Amino acid sequence: MRTGVIQITRLDHMVLNSVEEAISSMGVEVEVILQPIGSPFNLLDWDRVQFKGDSLFRWFRATASETLDGAYDSIMGIGEIDAFDDGKEYILNVVSDNLSISFIQRLWTEETKLYLERVRKLVINSWGRGRGIIHDSTDNCIFHEVQTVEELDRIVAAPCSACRVKLQMSTTKVRV
Ligand SMILES: [Zn+2]
Repeated sequence: MRTGVIQITRLDHMVLNSVEEAISSMGVEVEVILQPIGSPFNLLDWDRVQFKGDSLFRWFRATASETLDGAYDSIMGIGEIDAFDDGKEYILNVVSDNLSISFIQRLWTEETKLYLERVRKLVINSWGRGRGIIHDSTDNCIFHEVQTVEELDRIVAAPCSACRVKLQMSTTKVRV
């Protein structure tokens, strides 16, 4: 089980360490691709200074599959950029089929500890939901859907017991 992390914008060491730590804590191997791929400014909505989530995701899917070609079970893009979706002021991630993008620009605060905690929570959330671990009842689980920074601060930093089981099943390779 390997997860590849792609920097959409060049991330600070502190942030990258938190990302690696967060993904490893889920019991999977993580590899950070050091060369950032850069954000596609032609997809930027210049009035909002935000990327449109779904078009960025399509671009990311194409770029990631071209570069990585089946080397990983999950691919995560992380960028210090901001994105939106129809009817929403902003979104924090887009996930689908083992692929995700986490938008961390909104997570910024001068309190470093809180900032890194938000980064860790968001990447675990993106990773797990991308693997189909969806928790939609109460918010006492890291895999609950998060749309705002307030929601991210509210969810607990760990999977609930039910999701822990799903996680175990998704990361345990079947032996024959
Ligand atoms: Zn859960």
